[in-house]
Amino acid sequence: MAPFKIVQASDTAVPVKCWSCAVAQNESTLFCSTCSKVQPPLRMDYFQVFQLPRILRLDVDVLEKEFYRLSRKLHPDRYARATESEREWSLADTALVNDAYRTLQDPIRRTEYLLKLEGESIGEEHSGKVSNSRASRVPSDLLEEVFELNMQLDELREGDASLRSDVEAAGQKFEAMLDELDSKLEAEWARWDEGDATARSTAQKQMVALLDRRRYLDNLLRDVKKVLGA
Ligand SMILES: [Zn+2]
Repeated sequence: MAPFKIVQASDTAVPVKCWSCAVAQNESTLFCSTCSKVQPPLRMDYFQVFQLPRILRLDVDVLEKEFYRLSRKLHPDRYARATESEREWSLADTALVNDAYRTLQDPIRRTEYLLKLEGESIGEEHSGKVSNSRASRVPSDLLEEVFELNMQLDELREGDASLRSDVEAAGQKFEAMLDELDSKLEAEWARWDEGDATARSTAQKQMVALLDRRRYLDNLLRDVKKVLGA
């Protein structure tokens, strides 16, 4: 007896037909490859929007060119005499293209996005809701330094300017840590892009940890700059 095959929706390339000419489309696409008509927004990820491979070291020039090409093709002027549906789809596609571009052109957002696609759960760097949960996530090797820095920041806030140079020095130190961290992150990008499944899985875990630490350092430096008025 043949075993049941479990088909998962996400693993199956659902054949999509063009609403206008009914020709089946091979890939998720914004426009029909046969009649060029705009298609309703399909379930596609941001990499697929630009027909780019799911990698971390993207060619941003290619990304930018593709963004402008799609934006021109979706421009409202082109749909002035189209059907109501086509106009709606072109607007929805435009929103998708804009979101995809904003996310992929920024290397950190791109990394966070790819990790989420790969099923990793990561913090929200851009959610703006960081201050409360943050205290519990001080990287253990930084506990002492962060504690001291926070004390100095408090005193500086209360007007004790004598600590200014100490805080500046601490800021520079954390800035250097951030640079070092970014080099490590870049090495993981290469490992992910070029590696086999095992290497990728290791790289993913590393990136999640690096991004957590990065988020922490980023917030810390934001506080330092705010207090220093820089
Ligand atoms: Zn078509």
